[in-house]
Amino acid sequence: ATQVETKQFQAETRKVLDIVINSLYTERDIFVRELVSNAADALEKFRHQSLIEKIEFDSHVPLEITINGDDKNHTLTISDTGIGMTREELETNLGTIAHSGSQHFFEQLAEAAKKDVNLIGQFGVGFYSVFMAAKNVRVQTRSWDGSEGWEWSSDGGGSYTIGPCPGLHRGTRIIIELKDDAHTYASKFTIERIIQQYSTFVPFPVIVEGKKVNTVQAIWSRSKSEITEEEYNEFYKFIGNAVDEPLYRFHFSADAPLSINALLYVPKENFEVLGMGRMQPGVNLYCQKVLIDQHSENILPEWLRFLKGAVDSEDLPLNISRQSLQDNALVIKLRKVLTKRVIKFFAEEAERDADKYRDFWKIFGIFIKEGMTSDFEHRADLAKLLRFESSASEPGVMISLDEYVDRMKEGQDKIYFINGPSRAAVEYGPYVEMFKKRGIEIFYTLDPIDDFVLNHLGEYNGKKLVSADRADLTLPESTEPSADTATDEQQVEPLSDAVATSLCRWMKEVLGERIQEVKASDRLVDSPAMIVNVDGFMTSSMERILKASGQ
Ligand code: ADP
Ligand code: MG
Repeated sequence: ATQVETKQFQAETRKVLDIVINSLYTERDIFVRELVSNAADALEKFRHQSLIEKIEFDSHVPLEITINGDDKNHTLTISDTGIGMTREELETNLGTIAHSGSQHFFEQLAEAAKKDVNLIGQFGVGFYSVFMAAKNVRVQTRSWDGSEGWEWSSDGGGSYTIGPCPGLHRGTRIIIELKDDAHTYASKFTIERIIQQYSTFVPFPVIVEGKKVNTVQAIWSRSKSEITEEEYNEFYKFIGNAVDEPLYRFHFSADAPLSINALLYVPKENFEVLGMGRMQPGVNLYCQKVLIDQHSENILPEWLRFLKGAVDSEDLPLNISRQSLQDNALVIKLRKVLTKRVIKFFAEEAERDADKYRDFWKIFGIFIKEGMTSDFEHRADLAKLLRFESSASEPGVMISLDEYVDRMKEGQDKIYFINGPSRAAVEYGPYVEMFKKRGIEIFYTLDPIDDFVLNHLGEYNGKKLVSADRADLTLPESTEPSADTATDEQQVEPLSDAVATSLCRWMKEVLGERIQEVKASDRLVDSPAMIVNVDGFMTSSMERILKASGQ
């Protein structure tokens, strides 16, 4: 027989374990949620696999999760009859971290974890949370393919052992030897309480000491009027691995052109700004309540990866494989319809409660901008969602392109913007002088990416979007307030053409290759000079970004 082998954890895994064990002592309950959610995932995977092919091995074993505590020996056992793991899977899944890990990544994790232990579930290191409460953990598992069973065991230190484990049925059993201060987790009452709190929506029976404790429901396919606010929030916590409430919720059903039941949530935080790298998509795809694709990359465009929730369509074939989802015509259509509806939802929310939408924009605007530059199909719709500060807005308050267009002066046929590092820098810079003087509103694009976004858009409502640093910029004459010029105290004697020409020539000589041309301009009011962009294709801020990125 094969011997029991001792193996070292991958370095990153050791760091995660170290964080889990040493800095995450509050809210230990979540380890139960993590293990139950892994059990549910394994059951979903098995259910889906059995729709794709006929499975002979252990096909009679019912799909369920059982939890038993042993008060005398202080152990807790969580079992599922899901897909199980082969030896190789056991090693990769519980010995390494699949997500590419760098030192930076884990430093950030440590920082984030100090702030909020619940974030750990977001980073896909859920299993290791068991070591918050465990002295020792044994994972006994047998794959659905009928290959031999294995036991993995560790005390959460630097190593684990792996060896054969005969006599198992399909699925996974996790036996936890509880730490001295964690004996409560062997109690039926504690476990029941935690399941009620976090795992009511697990779509398989959860049986604690012989009694089923959860309610099995696919909330998204129920009618809106029957669902309470509390149920909605509970489901969000379940599906989003969250502990707080969502910022937005969107429950939507349609029968034509496709049958869709979608329940989507926007969280209160953008996890990517915590330095955790790219988020996984957060929406699951179901067909007739069976999970087809968890964290689906196909059902929504990438820039909507911050959404959490469930999408169910009865039109999809139940036995569709994950690989064939990508180019399935129905899935592509579903994605189109959904994306349009989500954009419309945000536009309606912005209308309904502009302040709340501004909060959303501050946190998730970056994703909308990503959509603007990467998703040609939805660019025009997305433009409605954009918000920027402007010369007519209060500092910190952002307005939409529609608001700008509504306020445009007579004779003005373009939308103007100027990029800068801060509102103050832009406001007192030379580019906006003439705009202020003529009372023309101008957007302040304070995020370096904004110019790319607006350049991609090109025009809005038939009005060209123009950067104020363009050399060929001419502002509409008719908007110039005539009375203003007469009373202007700062009136100075203009240079004669001859003097201006020789001044320009002298400046060109001094600045040489660094510039292309010097010209006299009537665009300035208070400032003596400004740098403008000749080709008019890229704004100066875009050039700065490209230069910084070495292009
Ligand atoms: P995540 O669930 O985010 O992938 P976890 O740390 O919770 O991360 O689990 C790591 C991996 O271990 C899972 O992706 C899965 O492949 C495997 N795993 C964990 N628990 C089980 C289980 N009960 N049955 C089968 N596989 C499991
Ligand atoms: Mg997990």
